[in-house]
Amino acid sequence: MPDGETQPFRSNVVLRDYQTDLLKLSTERLDQKRTCLYLPTGGGKTELAIKLCESLLNMGDSVVWCVNRITLINQTSERFTDAGIDHGVIQAKHPKTASWKQLQVASIQTLNRRNLKPNCTAIVIDEAHGAIAETYKNYLAQYPDVPVWGLTATPFSKGLGKVFDRLVYTVTVSDLTERGWLVPARFFAPDRPDLGGVDIVAGDYHEAQLSAVMDDSKLVGNICDEWQKRAKNGRTIVFATSIDHSKHICDQFNFRKIPSEHIDCFTTTKDRKEILARLRTGTTRVVTNCSVLAEGFDLPDLECVVLARPTKSLIRYLQMVGRGLRPAEGKTSALVLDHSNTVELLGFPTDDLPLALDMGNTKIKTPTKPKLHICPKCKAISKRKPNPCNVCNYAPPKPDFDIEQREGSLHELRRGTPAEQQRYYAGLISIQREKGYNNGWVAHKFKERHGMWPPRSLKWYAAEPTKELLNDLLAAQIRWAKSKAAERKYGSRA
Ligand SMILES: [Zn+2]
Repeated sequence: MPDGETQPFRSNVVLRDYQTDLLKLSTERLDQKRTCLYLPTGGGKTELAIKLCESLLNMGDSVVWCVNRITLINQTSERFTDAGIDHGVIQAKHPKTASWKQLQVASIQTLNRRNLKPNCTAIVIDEAHGAIAETYKNYLAQYPDVPVWGLTATPFSKGLGKVFDRLVYTVTVSDLTERGWLVPARFFAPDRPDLGGVDIVAGDYHEAQLSAVMDDSKLVGNICDEWQKRAKNGRTIVFATSIDHSKHICDQFNFRKIPSEHIDCFTTTKDRKEILARLRTGTTRVVTNCSVLAEGFDLPDLECVVLARPTKSLIRYLQMVGRGLRPAEGKTSALVLDHSNTVELLGFPTDDLPLALDMGNTKIKTPTKPKLHICPKCKAISKRKPNPCNVCNYAPPKPDFDIEQREGSLHELRRGTPAEQQRYYAGLISIQREKGYNNGWVAHKFKERHGMWPPRSLKWYAAEPTKELLNDLLAAQIRWAKSKAAERKYGSRA
């Protein structure tokens, strides 16, 4: 590296210790040419990227900086300008076109479409989890001897190990949270939508089917109810399932006099900037979107993230939740309202992640997920079952195994074998679906019979109700009818 006198590139960026370590790790072993750098959302990827560029440029490298969307070009260019790094942009008629400059910012689409192969001695790929796309594969094939660096907060794409030789990282979400660079999140699961009938396509839910389940006026209403109950009017991003779903949620908030706006891929850059500025100042409290705000959006003051878009993708999930974890003055935690079962499915963002590049031939090994507990009263999600609940103080009643005498039937509370429990549970689900009851009804009816809430090991599917179940429900109806008759006879005490 040349000495200070001859270093033409000097940014105004100062790195944190773990970023310096990561930069060192990523540039020291060049026998492996393609390096993927992992830094969690909120870890300061932009600063790291600028310093990486700065050191490459000072070593005399010509650098091509690739982004995966044309919309990210200006954002990236602005960041380089702010940091004091001179550069050119490769894009038709762009005012910053300057092919002689040592650093060029380009989108992979432009490079491919125009068949451009700028001379370079180093390539950097931003949002490198997308580098598994054919466009990148074709492009990189033209530079077999040029070292490549990829930057990502989610290095979990299938086949990423075929693009990069190694993955380097120095911190995880949990490290950053412990050290105060991220705030911890509080999770609530108010709804558990029934996704039993939604097909899985390419590892995630079928979009249209998912939208049909989620864009239901009752579920949309629940999102607003729960937000009003818990978010204390905090600035919020809602991730919806589709553009229509996002608009419906937005309308519902506005209907309740909570200033809310919607953003989608058709929103102009100018409108989008203005909407996010209003969210920043608090004039707008809620911004709903489908997925455009999962990447490249940063508002540390964000207080709440609403997940109304179920996903099986760890990348998508961490991108969404990561928006809320930035620290800001006076912010001690982020609130996550999960209407999508995702936290239960994928765990907390601070859980251990599969930090090894996937080779594409094996299934990604998901780390053993902790069994999560959802408080039956306030719906707070926690790792183990706190008794009483540390949010609402609810203490579950002790399971009762005695034979209990009830009006109309001798009702025995007993646990039964797991197979018996599953049969009973599946029968309840079939009746619940037929009658349109909510999921809580299933849990309560299960508890009436078994003296405990349905164990997590039970699977959510419907099957024909057993005779035992139908008898229980009939007995409950008789009890109810008798109590109503008694009320009429003696007058209600209410
Ligand atoms: Zn609780």
